[in-house]
Amino acid sequence: MRKKIVAGNWKMNTTLQEGVELARKVNEMVKSVPATTGVALAAPFTHLSEIAKVIDTERICLAAQNCSSETKGAFTGEISAEMLKSVGVKAVIIGHSERRTIYKEDDAVLNKKTKLALAQGLKVIFCIGEVLAEREAGKQFDVVNTQLEKGVFDLSAEDFSRIILAYEPVWAIGTGVTATSAQAQEIHKYIRTLLTKKYGAQVADDTTILYGGSCKASNAKELFDNADVDGGLIGGAALEAEGFLGIVKAI
Ligand code: PEP
Repeated sequence: MRKKIVAGNWKMNTTLQEGVELARKVNEMVKSVPATTGVALAAPFTHLSEIAKVIDTERICLAAQNCSSETKGAFTGEISAEMLKSVGVKAVIIGHSERRTIYKEDDAVLNKKTKLALAQGLKVIFCIGEVLAEREAGKQFDVVNTQLEKGVFDLSAEDFSRIILAYEPVWAIGTGVTATSAQAQEIHKYIRTLLTKKYGAQVADDTTILYGGSCKASNAKELFDNADVDGGLIGGAALEAEGFLGIVKAI
């Protein structure tokens, strides 16, 4: 049976000192949460090795927000999946809409990154989701289908078992607008249907599909109560420990 997970994506926020403090607080608070709820923190690269020292890394999955599409060498400014692994990272977010839009990362690059991360034994939180114009044109199903086809559907079933999907409608990210509970369930169910067609019912049933987009403590329960919503990828609301814990407890 799939795991329920709440993952915080801090983006480019917090100094090292602030990030370590936030991680410490989350680590303390998570002690009151049943182990059946997975918790992940995706911190900036500069913070990862220090955060690994102050959290229970068996309880909290330390994650990165990105990795290079190359293995090593003359790629100034890049951080490889192997480097992430070497500082205790267990998972990496790939394909966040900010990477797709601002840094023009296309499906082929994301596919390459995913494979490199998996080859290092990392889990991948793979993000998909449509922009507003696509939603308004009723194209959201086609968009996520294509993103999955080109991004991860050439993986073996074994490799795919280390993928966590995050459906994040781009129009809801950081905007304060949340998909309705019904909109989230509709598309999560559709995504699971695609997984069933591609990998069979067992893999589909075992795959965690997170919702992301202006999720906070006040709306998390309504979203997470849906049969096919298995938790959340949380941006802004993950930057404050109490609020983040409220979301974790909504599972
Ligand atoms: C995100 O960036 O993954 C996200 C969901 O952001 P927010 O929660 O701030 O909308």
